[in-house]
Amino acid sequence: MRPARALIDLDALRHNYRLARELSGARALAVVKADAYGHGSVRCAQALEAEADGFAVACIEEALVLREAGIRAPILLLEGFFEADELALIDQHDLWCVIHAQWQIDAIEQAQLSKPLTAWLKLDSGMHRVGLHPADYQHAYRRLLASGKVSKIVLMSHFARADEPECERTAEQLAVFQQARDGLSAEVSLRNSPAVLGWPQVPSDWVRPGIMLYGATPFEQAQEQAARLQPVMTLESKVISVRELPTGEPVGYGARFVAERPTRVGVVAMGYADGYPRHAPSGTPVVVDGQLTRLIGRVSMDMLTVDLTDLPQAGLGSHVELWGKQVLASDVAMAAGSIPYQIFCNLRRVPLLYLGG
Ligand SMILES: *Cc1c(COP(=O)(O)O)cnc(C)c1O
Repeated sequence: MRPARALIDLDALRHNYRLARELSGARALAVVKADAYGHGSVRCAQALEAEADGFAVACIEEALVLREAGIRAPILLLEGFFEADELALIDQHDLWCVIHAQWQIDAIEQAQLSKPLTAWLKLDSGMHRVGLHPADYQHAYRRLLASGKVSKIVLMSHFARADEPECERTAEQLAVFQQARDGLSAEVSLRNSPAVLGWPQVPSDWVRPGIMLYGATPFEQAQEQAARLQPVMTLESKVISVRELPTGEPVGYGARFVAERPTRVGVVAMGYADGYPRHAPSGTPVVVDGQLTRLIGRVSMDMLTVDLTDLPQAGLGSHVELWGKQVLASDVAMAAGSIPYQIFCNLRRVPLLYLGG
């Protein structure tokens, strides 16, 4: 059997969830959209269900996967519905729904629901992607209340730059939010992972941690609270072939690496078809039998090559950690010009193996 696989440490996931709660002092919706950032949404939700206040996903398709797996906890649709006819399923499956546009309020007014909805009313406080304009926010709130179709409204917004510790934009967005919601007494939800970790002064009744649950930092620089996260995924494989190359010989497609000294090359069963980033350059950290070394040559579809020259004990069958507790996914992502969010979401083909029930 091909040795490439991803181990998912569910105890680490629970540790990170508890950290989000501890740091915020708030209730926390575990964000498990995009198949829990590649970690498997059903197993991750099951592992958290006993303690989680609820879950958040991007769309109803993702929510139904969780409901079909027996998850009974609240599930928030972060983009609400895309078409009005989804409201029947939202009603039937007791889903919470972000409302970010006027047309969604129209649809709710016209909907036939068996019971009132929980709505999260989203303000565009400056990210300018989705959300109601500040000038329309109070009117939207009153319309929703008056519709008789909602039982509860949570006030929410989303930060564009909370991962930049020195950036004033987060405080500006908060000020826009506070002004727009002035006088509305309702629960509030503002903080994603970087805001949970780095913006303790931002109020929240509900936080929405995503990437931090999976143990990766959203920050580019070292950050005190992010250092407390435990990596959840270990992407691992084995050395399946070894080459001794004399100085001057190339490795792999495009001869991207040429040996500058007699080089022992280990070939690892892992490639971009598994989600390992093709743009990771020579020098990207990788761990072989517990020892740090480097990727060399171009990543191909099913294989990549590593430098074993200084690891004489390593060879055929050696264990390789592409990322995990020794090499952080965020470091691999940075080397490849990406972010941990994307390299997790790109994971495919490798079997996921769950540890810690
Ligand atoms: C994805 C998402 C989150 C989680 O973001 P992280 O940076 O992964 O914590 C929170 N809120 C909304 C609205 C999202 O779309």
